[in-house]
Amino acid sequence: MATPVPNLWYHSCMENSKYDVAVIGGGPGGYAAAVRAAELGKRAVLVEADALGGECLNRGCIPTKAMLAASGLYRRMLGAADLGIAADNVRFDYGAIRQRRDSIVSRLQSGIRQVLAARKVDVVRGLASFVSPTELAVADGAGGSTTIGFAHAVIATGSTAAHSAFLPTSPRIVDSSGFLALATLPARLVVIGGGAIGCELAMLSAQFGAAVTLVEQAGAILPDIDADARSLLLESFASLGVKVLVDATVADVEADDEGVYGVAGDAEVYGDIMLIATGRRPRIDGLGLEAAGVVADKGGIRVDTHCRTTAANIFAVGDVTHGSPRLANWATMQGLVAAETIAGNQSSCADSVASCIFTDPEIAVAGLTETTAARAGIEVRTAKKLFAWNGRALAEGEGRGFVKKIFAKDDGRLLGVEIVGPRASELISQASEEICGGTPPPHPALCETLFDP
Ligand code: FAD
Repeated sequence: MATPVPNLWYHSCMENSKYDVAVIGGGPGGYAAAVRAAELGKRAVLVEADALGGECLNRGCIPTKAMLAASGLYRRMLGAADLGIAADNVRFDYGAIRQRRDSIVSRLQSGIRQVLAARKVDVVRGLASFVSPTELAVADGAGGSTTIGFAHAVIATGSTAAHSAFLPTSPRIVDSSGFLALATLPARLVVIGGGAIGCELAMLSAQFGAAVTLVEQAGAILPDIDADARSLLLESFASLGVKVLVDATVADVEADDEGVYGVAGDAEVYGDIMLIATGRRPRIDGLGLEAAGVVADKGGIRVDTHCRTTAANIFAVGDVTHGSPRLANWATMQGLVAAETIAGNQSSCADSVASCIFTDPEIAVAGLTETTAARAGIEVRTAKKLFAWNGRALAEGEGRGFVKKIFAKDDGRLLGVEIVGPRASELISQASEEICGGTPPPHPALCETLFDP
């Protein structure tokens, strides 16, 4: 985490003052909790050690989607002849793409700052830790410390990339943040981990022309989606030249001036950069949870359906919580639930929110897939419609993919919808409404503008 430095835009809080609600972390979970608490008449303070917007805005959802928008457009332009358009000499400027990405992030940061100011949420920059069940110490990074008293606290400190101890330390071995910070696109990239982050970063690199090897230890990438959805993504990876290795454990990794090398199952892998996308772990170190009476384990802070921790006045939301699906819209839902509960309103978390993988094709799920239903021992029947028979999809040259509805075999209840294809992340919002109730739609998506929290 970056060392906090004084920054003028942070409005000050009153030294030793007592707040109704103190929120630690300014990502989608903490930000939602602070804003909603203030809207409900609570005097709220938000403490952020780094940049407003959290991992989501600064190193996650938004920067990756800005890059994917550019790589996807580049790829479409290379194939423009399919639509009868000549686009010769198509090139990209990676530096300009990164600059555009960073300016989108700054713009959204200033939006968050404005909303917090408008709701009169005090914002303090610094690293917070509990000193008691009703007090936080906030270190300003320059040796100073402020004490903040609170009636209720919300822990929204997020997660960090999980690092494997067997990997050497080298600038050639990076996590997703390190990858996004690279000044140039690696010509050869090895991605370890076939989850959403690994697949998205493999896709954007391959769309820009990198030679990508994607390695997954399990038997399949994206294990919660169905085989018919996965095979469309695998086709797309194959057309971009991405080598996908499954059932392959990485070992013997070494890096030198020339590149990074290792073994993945039976194969040798090498690249200019190795991206580790093998999961995330909750950010709980140094929070002083014991001083507050909050119990956590290495999976995170356990919370009930109202986001209450083991300390009656302290809540936790988002990636830091045990069992979190590590999605921004899940964090937002929990932030809203925590604030409502603190204000004495009836509110509880839904079982799930819609999730998306922003590859090409996009994949979006609300509720159960056939795979997750089978894992839960639920018998289902499905109904599938192909984009190949949809006029709009064909008109746009996007006829691959499908919408699949998953029903309970016994009573016909709709249990889930899985969409693979054009703008799946937008189309899923209607299904999300039906299956996941009034939970926040997937993030980032245009349909968020319709959401009335
Ligand atoms: P975070 O967003 O991690 O925010 C936590 C904040 O707490 C940080 O700003 C941190 O600086 C601050 N903090 C931590 N400790 C302290 C402390 N002691 N004192 C003060 N401040 C502290 N999810 C999606 O839904 N869609 C996507 O497309 C998507 N893409 C992703 C792509 C990547 C590469 C990554 C890494 C993640 C992506 N995610 C996506 C996941 C999403 O970013 C997280 O689920 C989300 O950010 C979690 O929100 P949060 O509020 O729990 O924590």
